Amino acid sequence: MLRRRAAEVTEVTPELRRMIADMIETMYDEVGIGLAAPQVGISLRLLVVGHEEGREPRALINPVIVARGGEVTAEEGCLSIPGIFAHVTRSEWVDVEATDADGHAVKMRGHGLLARVFQHEIDHLDGVLFIDRLDPVTRDRIKRRIKKEGFPEDAHRAFAL
Ligand code: ZN
Repeated sequence: MLRRRAAEVTEVTPELRRMIADMIETMYDEVGIGLAAPQVGISLRLLVVGHEEGREPRALINPVIVARGGEVTAEEGCLSIPGIFAHVTRSEWVDVEATDADGHAVKMRGHGLLARVFQHEIDHLDGVLFIDRLDPVTRDRIKRRIKKEGFPEDAHRAFAL
């Protein structure tokens, strides 16, 4: 599921809104600040983001990055790869176009952490994981460690996307 390209959402239905509410709940249970539908077994182009300067969590349907700039390297983790953290280089800001939970077109600019959340979660919709963005040596080291030791049991999950 995590390696598949997720399908476009064709209609905002009550069922989709229920999915969004469940995803927001899961995101907060997991202390995540973003969650993409494929992470909860739903292969749709849908993500939720939270903890955005006191704003309500929100859903982005069929999000597309339409502009980006800058470059910043920071530590990142993923709720789907528990306990693994690594430095990932990403754009410093991105503009995202999407549909919101009411079916309206929205355009948002994210800087810093929010830009990172957008890029990480939209990668999930394309079947890309953050470890794919690492240099091959670091990636192989992490993969070997997971193979040998599995995922840590009590991984600290703060800052996972
Ligand atoms: Zn993730």
